[in-house]
Amino acid sequence: MTADRGDDPHVHLLLGAYVLDALEAEESGPVARHLQRCGACAASYVEVVEALSLLALLNVDDLLE
Ligand SMILES: [Zn+2]
Repeated sequence: MTADRGDDPHVHLLLGAYVLDALEAEESGPVARHLQRCGACAASYVEVVEALSLLALLNVDDLLE
């Protein structure tokens, strides 16, 4: 069990959209604040960023081979 209360949910499911800047301001604000105090979600955020960075290195020709 975690110490999180109902009003402080983890944000793993929002991280992809957050990284892609696809969230509304009212959603991204709480995500940013959560990342500042939750090591687990911050680590997940870094993983998402790294994964997207790797994807950005691929080009279409590589994917089609
Ligand atoms: Zn969290």
